[in-house]
Amino acid sequence: MRALVFKDFGSVELADVPKPGLEAAGDALVRITTTAICGSDLHVLNGRIPGMTPGAVLGHEFIGVVEETGRDVARFKAGDRVLGSFMIPCGSCWFCDRGLFSRCPDVCVFGYGSFLGDVQGAQAEYVRVPKADLALHAINASLSDEQALFAGDIFTTGYECAVEAHIEKGDVVAVLGCGPVGLMAIQAARAVEPERIFAVDTVSQRLEMAQTFGAIPVDASAVHPCSHIQDLTGGRGADAVLECVGLIPALLDSIDIVRAGGRISVIGVHSDPEIQLPLSLSFVRGIDLKFCGTANIVGRWDDALGLITAGSVHPDEIISHRMKLADGVRGYELFEKREALKVVLTP
Ligand SMILES: [Zn+2]
Ligand SMILES: [Zn+2]
Repeated sequence: MRALVFKDFGSVELADVPKPGLEAAGDALVRITTTAICGSDLHVLNGRIPGMTPGAVLGHEFIGVVEETGRDVARFKAGDRVLGSFMIPCGSCWFCDRGLFSRCPDVCVFGYGSFLGDVQGAQAEYVRVPKADLALHAINASLSDEQALFAGDIFTTGYECAVEAHIEKGDVVAVLGCGPVGLMAIQAARAVEPERIFAVDTVSQRLEMAQTFGAIPVDASAVHPCSHIQDLTGGRGADAVLECVGLIPALLDSIDIVRAGGRISVIGVHSDPEIQLPLSLSFVRGIDLKFCGTANIVGRWDDALGLITAGSVHPDEIISHRMKLADGVRGYELFEKREALKVVLTP
């Protein structure tokens, strides 16, 4: 079968690889109908994830049809249309028992090499899905592949960020970072009917998309976002800040932008080991700072798909490029250069 594979750091190629088969009783074999390129695939390519071997299949956002199931798979059968979760929890540890799937110490991720379970990715014609009863979700026939696809990763990730910020109707929300996850967080926040959402970024294409999603664009290359948002809220600041960047300056800006007693929810992936925090100021202002970590897809995708099915959110509006899997290398190039906001691939 054809697949997009890790060639070397920073380099992806289209290759012929063996079609996967079932390896364990809980596995399902899924024929891919739609897959996508995620920002975290770039982390894999660019060497931020150790343990990638040349020839490993990339990708972890997918929808497909079940071809075959192992004897322990109870919830799915051949012919079922399914959405995949990027994460595969173990399903039997202390955390999984409590629904805290993203905290599972043995969680695996498709296409992340030996660092996260050595599971081949989904930018391919077929993918083997371990723990299929947990890592797959049936899709309502009323939803297209594109509508449902992002509930397996970026939409549910943005949704978790919004949920953890405890946004209430009438709130002022600020979203820092309008990449795919930030844009999904804007859609999820919008569903709660806040009074205003400020969307902060420097990339005009992203700010325009944020505006079409109902946010007020704040171009951080033109204005100082902290004082700008303070000015527009009578000096009070935002009730909730969704930090979707994952860099120290964005986290410090969040502390400046949030109002006293407000809430910051951090979903941007931080890799710096330490930070100097304005500690006494944060304490006196009573800021609620929540680090989401990796989003709990398996614990939240019922709710996320519910919002999509109800028409409250439209994650597929983020798709900028539709390409064939065979043209996926070009898709990676466009995505890396930020010429593409979201690339969807079909075999
Ligand atoms: Zn991802
Ligand atoms: Zn577990």
